[in-house]
Amino acid sequence: MQYFSTRDRSSVVSASGAIAQGLSAEGGLFVPASFPQVDVQAVCRLSYPEMAAHIVGKFLTDYSSEFLAQATAATYGDAFAGKAGHLEPVADGLYSLELWHGPTCAFKDYALQLMPKLLVQAKKNLGRTETTLILVATSGDTGKAALDGYHDVPGIQIAVFYPNNGTSEIQRLQMSTQLGENVAVYAVNGNFDDAQTGVKRVFGDKEVARQLAERNIRLSSANSINWGRLVPQIVYYFAAYAQLLNAGRIAMGDKVDFCVPTGNFGDILAGYYAKRMGLPVGCLVCASNENNVLTEFLTTGTYNARRPFYKTTSPSMDILVSSNLERLLYHMTEDNAKVAGWMKSLMQDGSYTVDADVLARIRESFACGCANSEEVAAEIRTIYQTSGYLCDTHTAIAFKVAREYQVAHGGNAMVVLSTASPFKFPCSVLAALGEEAPQNDFEAMKQLQAATGVCAPESLASLDGKTERFNTVIDPMDIAKVALSY
Ligand SMILES: *Cc1c(COP(=O)(O)O)cnc(C)c1O
Repeated sequence: MQYFSTRDRSSVVSASGAIAQGLSAEGGLFVPASFPQVDVQAVCRLSYPEMAAHIVGKFLTDYSSEFLAQATAATYGDAFAGKAGHLEPVADGLYSLELWHGPTCAFKDYALQLMPKLLVQAKKNLGRTETTLILVATSGDTGKAALDGYHDVPGIQIAVFYPNNGTSEIQRLQMSTQLGENVAVYAVNGNFDDAQTGVKRVFGDKEVARQLAERNIRLSSANSINWGRLVPQIVYYFAAYAQLLNAGRIAMGDKVDFCVPTGNFGDILAGYYAKRMGLPVGCLVCASNENNVLTEFLTTGTYNARRPFYKTTSPSMDILVSSNLERLLYHMTEDNAKVAGWMKSLMQDGSYTVDADVLARIRESFACGCANSEEVAAEIRTIYQTSGYLCDTHTAIAFKVAREYQVAHGGNAMVVLSTASPFKFPCSVLAALGEEAPQNDFEAMKQLQAATGVCAPESLASLDGKTERFNTVIDPMDIAKVALSY
């Protein structure tokens, strides 16, 4: 399988090349040249690691099947407590795909526990021996998941940048207490978009690349702009379908809708790839918080990032520039020049508008909706009271949007992607249940356990009292300096 850039079809690389490089030289994102087809019925009989090896292998054709079988078995076994891709029934025709049973309690573990293995092997495949410096911009969850995946991996250094005061206290502590010789964490003045733009600027800076090359260091990315982040996420759409099928809740070929709490458009785009690979996906419903730039885009065709930025109770979705949408635009148009033009307009004017026929094509597969923080709190309470199901703030957005979609369009089974453990955001969840929430996240965690009888994940509870290793705050412009300090 070959990959080329969304902005330039002549930038062709192998899967290893796409994973090692992250971003294409002219700033575009790598996309696969075709959509491999999958025998859904056969795949539904596989265990999660086997399914992962099969589906990932369809795209990563320059990796051996032995390597992928071993890597997926090592990744999706014990680390996910036997609950990789676990689907939980919540209400009639409504399911929660619990993606937070991994080590850092967010769905990003699915990609970031596997990606270090893929990157090390990519370098071997390409015959490269340099040090890889991974720069990560995070709204909270990617940072920790990347640190956990990459710490002490030979040949790799990782620096994480998160918005100062833009994450939950638990998320911040997860990062600042990270062990490992090759890790560094920085708070950046500004919001997530400032951090992401700052990191992207360094990736595009030829002088930085030249100076690092002199020291045998090459930059790479662990954000969902990297193809290696997306491909492992395709697997759990198949796993959800398999569980519905094997439990007799659907028949083979029945369409299933998915509702995805969305920020950078990576998770939901993986669902689109699953659909193009032959999985019977009905609608992909894009759920947003108050930063509802995608709701507006999917409704009007205009992407307008020039708008107020809201800090919400779902910080991992506080994003105005949704990078992976670029890949969808390419697949919808197969027109590099057009996509490059829109991205240029986004960069220069903060907005772009797609043609009516492009929007119509997108809307054949995608629907959208949004929820504000009050509605999120009400949804957490409603789902808990009516179904006894406890969910986090991000997942609650998707539940609200999914239930509205079901009322309007009903019919298919609806799977909500549950992206984080409720104990990552204990103050917001506790307050939503109508309890007086303490200021301290660990007190809130204990109270949430007491109120619901649900146990907090050990990896979060044990953060209390751990030594913090990182406390540096920098400006976005200083990200280049950090890179050059290696
Ligand atoms: C990252 C994240 C999201 C958004 O996922 P995207 O792939 O960026 O759209 C949603 N919920 C949680 C908890 C996250 O960590």
